[in-house]
Amino acid sequence: MPNLSPSVTIHPPHFSWPPISKEIENAVVHQLYETISIYDRSGIFERFENKFSSYHGLSYSLLTNSGTMALFSLFDAIGIGPNDDVLCPDYTFFATVTPLVYLGARPIFCDCDKNGNIDPDELPRVLTPRTKAVVVTHMWGVPCDMDPIVDFCQRKGLRLLEDCSHAHGATYRNRKVGTFGDGAAWSLQGQKLVTGGEGGILSTNDKEIYFRALLAGHYNKRCKSEIPNDHHLAQFRVTGFGLKLRAHPIAIAIAEVLFDNLQNYLSVKKDMAGRLIQAISGFPFFRLPDVLEREPSWYAFPIWCKSEDIAIQIHQQMVSKGAVEMDRPTSTGSLCVLPLFRQLATARPRSYKRSFSQGPLKNSSHASKTTLKLPVPWEYSQEPLWNEYAETLKGIAKGIDQ
Ligand SMILES: *Cc1c(COP(=O)(O)O)cnc(C)c1O
Repeated sequence: MPNLSPSVTIHPPHFSWPPISKEIENAVVHQLYETISIYDRSGIFERFENKFSSYHGLSYSLLTNSGTMALFSLFDAIGIGPNDDVLCPDYTFFATVTPLVYLGARPIFCDCDKNGNIDPDELPRVLTPRTKAVVVTHMWGVPCDMDPIVDFCQRKGLRLLEDCSHAHGATYRNRKVGTFGDGAAWSLQGQKLVTGGEGGILSTNDKEIYFRALLAGHYNKRCKSEIPNDHHLAQFRVTGFGLKLRAHPIAIAIAEVLFDNLQNYLSVKKDMAGRLIQAISGFPFFRLPDVLEREPSWYAFPIWCKSEDIAIQIHQQMVSKGAVEMDRPTSTGSLCVLPLFRQLATARPRSYKRSFSQGPLKNSSHASKTTLKLPVPWEYSQEPLWNEYAETLKGIAKGIDQ
């Protein structure tokens, strides 16, 4: 008997990101002959930062060598240090929170909502007198419920930062993510929607935050050309504050091509994600992203399964039927159980006199075990493959339903 349930017949590689094109090749070669190290805010750095700022309607953008360092620079710039608490998502990639450990601050983890994002109702429950800031991640590109989060931060006088590393160009109530708080960071790492292979960028409307982020890792020429003589931080322009976090111009030349195409990618992704939602909604053991009043970036399509057992079964069957890009994310999950966050005093005795234990948190540990994710196509030539993925998944789900 032939196996009649649908499978993926197109051979891998499937959905390999980023799409390397002649345009990227030309941009790299062009940049190679222009310059491969930029000391100030000129050339590709100036062009990219200007485009990025105006796309978001923000005053300042600063390229860095990674998203992690963009987050570090922001935490540092808003003055986070020892004896400060920061409310963090528990369900995220760990780099949202790890820079806080270098700064000696205490992360307080918050459980997630139905989209895997920080649950706004958790914030007042875990607030401490030492809390200085809140950081959020727009998980898998689905924006957090920003209205109550912004409102809470304003009422309590807390700083708000956004990790937009999954969410380039995503919107919440028609407003772009990255524009809701005091500052935002985006990774430009290889998997991300705008990528240079490695890199990061931060944006803010706050001049003081921008200057402090500059001084964190962009000494001398760039600081001299931007921080005015009469500014109270001008005396530190030559040395900065001690790190070097500059981006690589070739990486940013690659990222510029992808950023120029971002709106096209986002519109194809929206269409494709919509079709998957149609194909697989209605199964009682799946929960799909709630996109009410949101335009996700669809960095990935998360499928929230009812149990770990179902997630494992579906993942195994998908891979064996050729849908090799179905994934159970492992390095993204509940953070409060990780050794670094449970044993701060052992890992970093200079910064922490004692460790803190928290969790496990109910929703986020469940999400860590039960999430499946798919890459979402960014061009229509991938439609036949996407249809095969959707039909295969639907076929498997029907088998489980019976
Ligand atoms: C990728 C990522 C980061 C870190 O970015 P790098 O450029 O790899 O340092 C931070 N937060 C989230 C949510 C990410 O996905």
